[in-house]
Amino acid sequence: YCAKRSADHIMFYDKSMSDAAEHRLKLLGDLRHAMSLGQFSIYYQPIVKLKDNHLLGAEALLRWQKTPHELLEAADFVPLLEETGLIVSVGNWVLEQACRQAALWRKEDHPDFTISVNVSPMQLEHSDFVSQVKQALKNAALPADALALEITESALLHYPQQARQTLENLHNLGLKVTIDDFGTGFSSLSRLGNMPIDGLKIDREFAGQLDSSRGRKLCHAIVQLSQALELSYVVEGIETEQQKAVLQDMGEGQAQGFFFGYPLHPQQFALAHFQARVVR
Ligand code: C2E
Ligand code: MG
Ligand code: MG
Ligand code: MG
Repeated sequence: YCAKRSADHIMFYDKSMSDAAEHRLKLLGDLRHAMSLGQFSIYYQPIVKLKDNHLLGAEALLRWQKTPHELLEAADFVPLLEETGLIVSVGNWVLEQACRQAALWRKEDHPDFTISVNVSPMQLEHSDFVSQVKQALKNAALPADALALEITESALLHYPQQARQTLENLHNLGLKVTIDDFGTGFSSLSRLGNMPIDGLKIDREFAGQLDSSRGRKLCHAIVQLSQALELSYVVEGIETEQQKAVLQDMGEGQAQGFFFGYPLHPQQFALAHFQARVVR
């Protein structure tokens, strides 16, 4: 009886495994063609000043229009782009596009608008990454201080020496480097003190804990850490007015999350966040 049960179980398991593998393979095949088919786009999510909700800029987030009815978010396919190495070329495309979009908005009445672009560890490892960044700025005629590159803790952990040098070179270009998803990657805090970074993006897990007393203390401690190190900070994942109010009491940082705005197509972003200009 037991043997039969476990045999059934194994059969079931095998089937679902092969389904998953098949699905993955299909997704990979589609992903390889996505770029040449023009299926990638970039959505923009507002980053605001906590004090007064003032719009400072946006984070560029990759989207994949897989079919006319299926728009995939980065979380669903960026890991695959990273596994296959495709992230290097796609990431460079994002950088180019996002810089151009930011330059356009700056020219159209928003001269202080800043843009944040995610960088995967594999891009950072590439020897010509710094020159690609330089080129993207030049192509867009975007000043370096309008760009922030978001790098996860894991990138710094895996290649501490090389990453350090690259960050230093980026820093020297005059752009900002921030640590993304801060607080979730077991970053070695000892390294924070001498890394050439400008800011922390505090992971949305912390915003999610603001309703508990310990959660608030934890978040406050990270805010104080960034203040002590003279780093800017953005609290990610703010979804409610209540969360915003709690954070406002902690300091004058920045925030991002669905409460302030969803990631949007550039046209929708402009409609939602820039004053509509009325032509008379
Ligand atoms: P991330 O850089 O931490 O980006 C924030 C993610 O949180 C985005 O998911 C965004 O849609 C989501 N988010 C924003 N506000 C809220 C909120 O209030 N609540 C909740 N629940 N979620 C919120 P997305 O677009 O799926 O991106 C996932 C991750 O994929 C990003 O995390 C980033 O690490 C990576 N990624 C996105 N675009 C790129 C890219 O162009 N290049 C690289 N290398 N990675 C990218
Ligand atoms: Mg990010
Ligand atoms: Mg993040
Ligand atoms: Mg994240």
